Amino acid sequence: MFAQATLETVLSALPAGYLLLDLSRQVVFVSERFSIACHGSPLPTVGSPLPATLLPQAVQQRLDQPDNKGLTLPAHGLLLEWLVTPLRDGWLISVREDRHAFRTLVDNSPDIITRYDLELRCRFINNTLSNFSPTPAAEHIGRTLEERRLPAQLKDAIRHNAQQVIASGKPQRFISELSLPQRLYVFESRLLPEFDDAGQLQSLLSIDRDISEQHATRLWEADENRLLEMIANDRPLQEVMGWTCQMIENQLSGAMCSIMLLDEAGERLYLAAAPSLASEYKEAIDGLRIGEGIGSCGTAAQRGEMVIVSDIASDPLWQDYRELAAAHRLHACWSLPILAQDGKVLGTFGLYHDRPCAPDSQALDIVRRTSHLMAIAIQQEQRATALYRLATQDGLTGLANRRHFLDLASQRFKEARYLGKPFSLLMMDIDHFKRVNDGHGHEGGDVVLQAFAQCVKSTLRASDLVCRMGGEEFAAILPDTPASEALVVAKRLRNAIAALPIAHQDHPIPITVSIGVASLSPACRELSELIRHADQALYQAKAKGRNRVCVAESL
Ligand code: GH3
Ligand code: MG
Ligand code: MG
Repeated sequence: MFAQATLETVLSALPAGYLLLDLSRQVVFVSERFSIACHGSPLPTVGSPLPATLLPQAVQQRLDQPDNKGLTLPAHGLLLEWLVTPLRDGWLISVREDRHAFRTLVDNSPDIITRYDLELRCRFINNTLSNFSPTPAAEHIGRTLEERRLPAQLKDAIRHNAQQVIASGKPQRFISELSLPQRLYVFESRLLPEFDDAGQLQSLLSIDRDISEQHATRLWEADENRLLEMIANDRPLQEVMGWTCQMIENQLSGAMCSIMLLDEAGERLYLAAAPSLASEYKEAIDGLRIGEGIGSCGTAAQRGEMVIVSDIASDPLWQDYRELAAAHRLHACWSLPILAQDGKVLGTFGLYHDRPCAPDSQALDIVRRTSHLMAIAIQQEQRATALYRLATQDGLTGLANRRHFLDLASQRFKEARYLGKPFSLLMMDIDHFKRVNDGHGHEGGDVVLQAFAQCVKSTLRASDLVCRMGGEEFAAILPDTPASEALVVAKRLRNAIAALPIAHQDHPIPITVSIGVASLSPACRELSELIRHADQALYQAKAKGRNRVCVAESL
């Protein structure tokens, strides 16, 4: 065995850490400084076998094939330089921090690394700072936090957290923002205490990591969740689309978003939302027919697939709209069709830019996901509209059904009574309708009912409300209309019906109608009373020979 006592004294005084092993790989000696290799675990015990995980594998291998060359390996945020020296009776393993390599590592780190003294004077800062700030790193060194050129908010955050570290001796983690004219950076900062051998706090090490991208992703996810919530809560489509444009524009800076919906005929696109496009441009494209060569959106809706125009000035798809786009400084337009579950085009999702550009994979992903959500929102609204129609409309004629009519009519009735305004009601019944059915079949009867409904609607004012009460009975309320005027309207209606050129399977079906008219008077308190009186007048019209109008006697 070597002169161990002397060797131990010498090794303990040297700057590296040392481990002596005998041939059976038992620990013979370990110096205090070897602890840098143990990273918090206790030093191996003298007299015990070498712990299996103590040495990095590459160092362990050197025990079998010693070659006396230095080995630099990263460990616990440091770079350690190892040397394995074979002895006659065993091995001498030394380890030390590779300061030169550490400096290289620090300067090439994507994180900003700063060392502060306890007065928060910057003692060291790596070159990474130059990626974010035009002030050279050298200008920061030697200056206190107050003297450095940093945004006041950032200084406050550093000072506050440094005080915590100094008071507690524990690391702190915080998020800070650096707002520069061209963009906003978000950092996750860790502030670590550095102690000397005696356990005295000496300095603080700050490691600032740029998390702007992750931060943007998190914001995007929050926005997207809000959109999902709006869709789930059945917010109006207009609101959902406005919000969608806004969130896309936040995410893809410089983009101007448009959402267009395809009409039921599948022929024209109508603007649903485009908060950042000029109103003149919006007017010009609203209601545009879809088709090949009709800009990005018209073409995308026609093809049912994405159309990327990265330079409007040279793309043939914009040939007819080039000047319009140029006048509004629009130079690129990417459009994605919004597709229903069955593949039907519901609309388009367009992104305009004020410079020629193509989407990257992130932008494509965003647009695809949003377009999918829009499809869900649109289909949901279509289903809700269909349900509402089913609940409120008569399926054959499209007029209000009895229940919906009674709801609306009683509201209008109350308003008119309250305001003392005139209000009239017509009850209509097609004459001898049974004969129509008997002579032309049920189908012929349906044709008559549809033509009748259409004629009543077009003869009355848009503010009047018409309904099919059931069978061949119809009703209409005429707000702001006194009895005398209602009589004129009813007569006009009777004439229009009698003149209707209805035909089914080339057979003409002439029809007539009997109409009862009743008008609001101070004695009339309920809509049902008015309906009863109009019904009586209708009964009179029938009794007097049909194809005529009777007015209810004053209530
Ligand atoms: P009046 O002049 O006295 O009103 O005679 P009318 O034949 O019109 O009256 P009635 O109430 O006796 O007959 C109404 C007919 O309307 C009976 C029914 O078969 C028919 N009808 C009811 N609903 C529909 C419908 O939805 N489609 C068709 N085609 N016929 C219907
Ligand atoms: Mg009838
Ligand atoms: Mg009837």
